Amino acid sequence: MIETVYLVKPRGFCAGVERAIEIVEKALKKFGKPIYVRHAIVHNEHVISDLESKGVIFVEDLEGIQKGSTVIISAHGAPPEIFERMKEKFNLIDATCPLVIKVHLEARRYLENGYKIVLIGKKGHQEVKGTMGFASMELVESVNDVQKLSFSSEEKIVYITQTTLSLDDTADIIQALRERYPSLELPPKGDICYATQNRQNAVKELVKHVDKILVVGSETSSNSLQLVRVAQNSGKEATLISDKKAIDLQELSDISSLGITSGASVPDILVSEVIDYIKERYPKISLKEIDVINEDIYFVPPIELRD
Ligand code: SF4
Repeated sequence: MIETVYLVKPRGFCAGVERAIEIVEKALKKFGKPIYVRHAIVHNEHVISDLESKGVIFVEDLEGIQKGSTVIISAHGAPPEIFERMKEKFNLIDATCPLVIKVHLEARRYLENGYKIVLIGKKGHQEVKGTMGFASMELVESVNDVQKLSFSSEEKIVYITQTTLSLDDTADIIQALRERYPSLELPPKGDICYATQNRQNAVKELVKHVDKILVVGSETSSNSLQLVRVAQNSGKEATLISDKKAIDLQELSDISSLGITSGASVPDILVSEVIDYIKERYPKISLKEIDVINEDIYFVPPIELRD
């Protein structure tokens, strides 16, 4: 029976997600509904349905949207040709996370300096689609993919990464790249963002205290999935749950300590609901907080939406 629940920090919203949501809410206030957002503003169904109830329409395809409408690019970014097409027709607002933009600029710079670029990321992820539009590059998802790269070892090669990957998995791919391309260059600062790193490091601490971990997050959220992976790689059972309704009490029946964290796109109310739900079933549990890293980062919204 569960006796202790450990809640780790940092968890939940990162500065890029907070900024993206703030942009949509400010745009609603300034321009009125409907506001269109290209792709899910952040990968969390609860955030999406809350914004939909306020008059936000999420679209993948921009065809059919009236000229002059307000359209926001999601936190994951988009290829430059989308920006070009959209800015002619719409009141365009960019909610791409500044840390994703940093990777775009890096890619452009490397291309201009004659590098062949390897992008480590997940095929089909919105951020990867956007980044691949900023420069010519080849994608690797795994150590096996490194052997399939077409670049020769005589060329100047550099790698960049999706911002929300597992540090450990990426380290294996980088090692394989180094072996194949001994002169491989590294970006001056890693591309995996502070929020992803901090949440993964917090899970590495959390696993020392618990029998099992619940990660609150969506199937579509890369950083939430990586938190599950980090816990599992440390030998702990970990399950991704979208909210309290997804909890399987049977799975928790034979453990005494449970750890809880959440992905960077998860509102803390969902974590509170999970805790309340567990407390209702196990009223005597003690709740402990593990504060691993203090985060104090804020990204200002675009100039047109500042107060
Ligand atoms: Fe930005 Fe990182 Fe948050 Fe993604 S997870 S929105 S890159 S801060």
